[in-house]
Amino acid sequence: MKKQVAIDGPAGAGKTTVAKAVAKRMQMNYLDTGAMYRAVAYVLLQKGVDLQDRLAIEQEMDSIQMEIVYLQGEQHVFVNHEDVTPYIRTPEVSMGASAVGKVPKVRIKLVELQRETARRYDIVMDGRDIGTYVLPCAKAKFYLTASSDVRAVRRGKDMQKAGEKVDFTELEKEIIARDKADSEREFAPLRCAEDAVYLDTSRMSQDEVIAYVCKKIGEIYG
Ligand code: C5P
Repeated sequence: MKKQVAIDGPAGAGKTTVAKAVAKRMQMNYLDTGAMYRAVAYVLLQKGVDLQDRLAIEQEMDSIQMEIVYLQGEQHVFVNHEDVTPYIRTPEVSMGASAVGKVPKVRIKLVELQRETARRYDIVMDGRDIGTYVLPCAKAKFYLTASSDVRAVRRGKDMQKAGEKVDFTELEKEIIARDKADSEREFAPLRCAEDAVYLDTSRMSQDEVIAYVCKKIGEIYG
C-alpha cells in the first residue's frame, strides 16, 4: 500500500502550508481537498446556482468534470477543462465551499477522485474528513487546530500577502461560521479521528509544526 498522511482541522489552522511543506520534505505528493470543494462552489456561483438548493447542486454535479493537475509543483484544479485555481480563494467561495460540502453527492464524487489519487501516489492530503472518511486506513493522521483569533490572523496575513484587503473581525466570523457548518453537517463532518495526533498549534511556529509532523511520519513509516 502507498504511504498515506491525513491532515485535518478547522479553517485557517495552517493545514495547507504544513501539508505542502511536509510533502516536499518527505518526497510525497500533496492534495489540497479544500480546493476541490472551492472549485465546485466557484463554478456553481458563476452559473448563478443557489448554493442552498440541494437539488440544483445535485443536478449540476453530473456536468462537472474535475481534474487535478500539477504545474511547476503547484496543484491546479480544472473544471470542464478550465483552470479555476486563481478564483477560488475569495470569502464568497469559502462559504460556498462549505455549502456545497454538505451535499452527499458532491462529497461522493470528490472523495472518489481523492481516493483514486491516494491509490496511485504516496500522498499527504489535507481537508476535514481525510482521517475519518476518505482514508480511514492511513497510518499517519494529524488534526491541526488553533484558537479562532489565531487562525483569523494567520489566514488574514496570507491574504494580505496575496494583495487582498482584510477585515480581521469579519474573517474570524467567517471562520467560526464555517467551522460550525463543517462540524455540524450530517455526512462526513469535521472531526478528529480517534487515531489522529491532535495538535493545538496556537503557540507553535509553522516550522515547529512541520518538524513535529515530519518526525512523527518518520517514526510511523520508517
Ligand atoms: O480547507 P479549505 O478552507 O480550503 O476548505 C474550504 C471548505 O471546503 C471547508 O470549509 C469545508 O466546508 C470544505 N471541505 C470539506 N471537506 C474537505 C475539505 C474541505 O468539506 N475534505
